Formats: sequence, C-alpha cells, structure tokens
Amino acid sequence: SLQDRLQSAFTSLRGKGKLSPADIDATVREIRLALLEADVAVPVVRDFVASVTERANGVEVSKALNPAQQVIKIVNDELVTILGGETRRVRFAKTAPTVIMLAGLQGAGKTTLAGKLGRWLKDNGHSPMLVACDLQRPNAVQQLEVVGQQAGVTVFSPEPGNGVGNPVAVATASIAEARRTLHDVVVVDTAGRLGIDAELMKQASDIRDAVDPDEVLFVIDSMTGQDAVQTAQAFADGVDFTGVVLTKLDGDARGGAALSVRQVTGRPIMFASSGEKLTDFDVFHPDRMASRILDMGDVMTLIEQAEKAFDADEAAKAAEKLAGGAFTLNDFLAQLEAISKMGSMSKMLGMLPGMGQFKDQIAALDDKELGKIKAIILSMTPAERENPKMIDGSRRARIAAGSGRQVSDVNQLVTRFFDASKMMQQMAKGGGVPGMPGMQG
Ligand code: GDP
Ligand code: MG
Repeated sequence: SLQDRLQSAFTSLRGKGKLSPADIDATVREIRLALLEADVAVPVVRDFVASVTERANGVEVSKALNPAQQVIKIVNDELVTILGGETRRVRFAKTAPTVIMLAGLQGAGKTTLAGKLGRWLKDNGHSPMLVACDLQRPNAVQQLEVVGQQAGVTVFSPEPGNGVGNPVAVATASIAEARRTLHDVVVVDTAGRLGIDAELMKQASDIRDAVDPDEVLFVIDSMTGQDAVQTAQAFADGVDFTGVVLTKLDGDARGGAALSVRQVTGRPIMFASSGEKLTDFDVFHPDRMASRILDMGDVMTLIEQAEKAFDADEAAKAAEKLAGGAFTLNDFLAQLEAISKMGSMSKMLGMLPGMGQFKDQIAALDDKELGKIKAIILSMTPAERENPKMIDGSRRARIAAGSGRQVSDVNQLVTRFFDASKMMQQMAKGGGVPGMPGMQG
C-alpha cells in the first residue's frame, strides 16, 4: 500500500545523524514510485517530488527532530498542501434555502451521500430537504426516499404537477417547496452514467442553471484509479463544481484519487465517506488525511487536538486531584467536554494501540449525548458531584426525574464515571496512555 511504501522510503533515513544529498535522492525516488503505484496523477507526483526535494535539501539541522523525522514532516506538510491545506467548510447562502447539488458518475455514492449530508446537516441544526432528480435509473427515487427516511430527513419526489420525468422541473419545484415549508438547505441528488456522456452533462448543467446552487459537489469513488483525473476534469468542464466528496475511503483505495483531484481541478475536497452507514461520513480534513497516508495513525492530529482541548492549567489541576484520589463528576464532565471538542475521534482512536476499546464509547459521545450527561450531572447537588459515592437509589430516582432522564441513564453515567476514574488512576500511575507510538528515529 501507499502507507507501506512511504514507510519503507523513510526506513533508510532512520538512525542517520545528517542527510546527504544522496540520501535525499534515494528517499525521494522511493516516494515517487510509491505515489505512482498509488495511481496519483503524474503531474501531481512531479510537483510533489520537486517540492519535497527542494525543502529536504534546504533543511537546517534541528535540535527537535532527527533527519528522518524532518523528512517525514516535510512529506506530511506537502501532503497537506496537495490535499488542499485548510479544511473547506460548506458555504451557506445568506438567504435560505442553501442549495447543494450532487454530481458524479453512477455508483459514485451520490444518493448514499445525500442521506449522510441530510443527517449531518440535521445534526448541525439545519432543516434539510433531499430532492430526487435522478429520474433515469429505475428505483432511484425510491432509493432516496429510503435513505431520507433512515436519516429522518424530508424527501421531495417527483409527482404530477412538479415535473414527472423532468429533473429540471423537479429541482425548480423543490426550491419553492423548501421556501414554503421552511427547509433551509436543499440537497439535489442527480442522475449519473457509467461513463461520461454529453447528455448527462447537459442535464446536470441544466439543473445547475435552474437552481443556482451555492455548492456543487462532485462525488467520486476513491477506488477510481488513473481515470479519476479525467472524470474530474470532465465534470469541472461540464458542470463546474465547487467542491469534491471522496467516497468509499473504507475500501481498498490506493489513495491516488484523493491526492490528484484537488491538485488537478483546483477544487477542495470537502467531505469523505467511509462506509455504507449514515454515520460513515465526515468533513474532510487535509491534515488528518495526510497523517493517515503516512500511517502514523493520526497520532499527530490526536496529540495536537488533545493539547488544544485540554487547558494546561486544568490538566495540572486534574493531575493534582488524581494524585489525591479526588476525581469528581465535575472533572469528569470537563473531560467529556474536552473529548467531544476533539471532533470525531472514533476512527483516530481506533488506530491507536490500546485505545480501540474506547472507540465505541467515544463515537457515541456526540453533542446530544453530551447534553444528556450534562443535564444529569447538573441535577445533582454540588456535594454529590464532588462525591458520587453518596448517590443512593432514591437520589438516583430524583436526579433522573430532575433531568428528564431514566434511572438507568443515571446508573450508566455513574458507572462510566467510576470506570473513568479507575482508568485515570491507572494512567496517573503508569505515566500516560500505554503503547502510544512515538516517532523514534
Ligand atoms: P449513486 O449512483 O452515485 O447514487 O451511488 P449510490 O449512492 O447508489 O451508491 C452506490 C453503491 O455504493 C451503493 O451500494 C452504496 O451502498 C455504496 N456506497 C456509497 N458510499 C459508500 C462508501 O463510502 N463506502 C462503501 N463501502 N460503499 C459505499
Ligand atoms: Mg443515485
């Protein structure tokens, strides 16, 4: 895989005190081969290799990093750059509804994405409506209806009066309907073909002209090899998209599409899909993707985010309390808030040895879940928060009533708290999370 190849490119640098031009040449040659084998587009490989070579030859001797680490850092920085640098967020319209149109080949994952986007928008406080404008494939409308139902999102389907058989008329009617029913985001699912064809492009650009989208997302299967560039270019010319969505990142993708599309089209990758479930979806972060490609298990991001999330003072206070064995529910709440601030970490954590066991718990910790936990903790008296051991059965019932939750929710929270404090004590004794891979040279 690309990961393995890049890792082996760095191996020969490990243990070296200084980098010679020959070392750099040999490493860069390996990186070049690794990228080409992963189906990264040739011009992208050329630019990438040139930047890495230039920077590697110019590195100063660093006290903080050894030569291998310096090269890994350069490669990481350049990967982030070709993946787009900053995370690009959705641009919402000043006047609702915001219109997001999906385009791409058949089977790319557009309809699945419509459901995921709908769910994500809803979770972020929007009121989305999905619009079925794939009138080509039999059952396409029904597929979107099913997906919408799973996501708990309204679906606008063609009916007599709003353009049966005419996707442009359906799209147009949907905007009026969204205004009328106060949906603030409209996601337009469109038809795809197995290959690029003129009729498909015409239909997509007609829909675009009719609804004037705020975002046109080009959806591409990450398994698409060298064809990715050509397909992306055809859609850029045919419909002119504002962003890219990579799907099927869970598959055996070689990574080429991800690394080529942004550079070749100049359009940012905005979202990534990594499975068939509604929740297998996230905003695309170039830095996280780069460290994933480098196979450092996103450790860098994890550490950076953890540093950001945990205030240093608070951490010191928590450590003091731990030493005295006084980890309270207030501390627990602060800890949960910090973890949830780190974003969708379940996948990252899954990559860390030893942390996989907490993956599901943390994945379940979305804002809603955190809100419930908070409500329960706030329904306790200050004394109970400091000393949860004093919470007996009758208090649990009162706390449940006070927070509008079930007694079982309170029980679960208290159990989780005791588990966490046990774990914190172990970590305090053992000096950190066991088995965290460093970047030893
Ligand atoms: P469309 O033709 O572009 O609308 O594509 P669909 O949404 O119908 O998806 C085509 C197939 O790919 C379906 O079987 C989906 O379940 C599957 N699919 C979509 N996204 C993903 C993904 O991120 N990972 C995996 N493994 N399968 C996906
Ligand atoms: Mg579809």
